[in-house]
Amino acid sequence: MSVMPGLMAPVAPVPPVAQVLYKAACPDCRARFELSAGAFRLAIGASRRTTFYSFTCPECGSAVRKPAGERIVELLTDGGVNTLRLHITVRSAAC
Ligand SMILES: [Zn+2]
Repeated sequence: MSVMPGLMAPVAPVPPVAQVLYKAACPDCRARFELSAGAFRLAIGASRRTTFYSFTCPECGSAVRKPAGERIVELLTDGGVNTLRLHITVRSAAC
């Protein structure tokens, strides 16, 4: 049922202007923590495969990168996460 086990909805029911915390987990050391929007980077590519978010694990310092679905993208951009658009999404005509 869970779409993205590593990332869930913002923790605190506070207005978006306040600092939003996201729950995240590190696949390396399995630590669980809450990170503010500033700790994330979001890269939106042309396809799902190139759309991902990343953060650095505060426990082990490992750089974590996970694919970001549409909901995750929405969630993160709403929270003010740095977004890098690698490619403008275009539905190109099939050849
Ligand atoms: Zn870790």
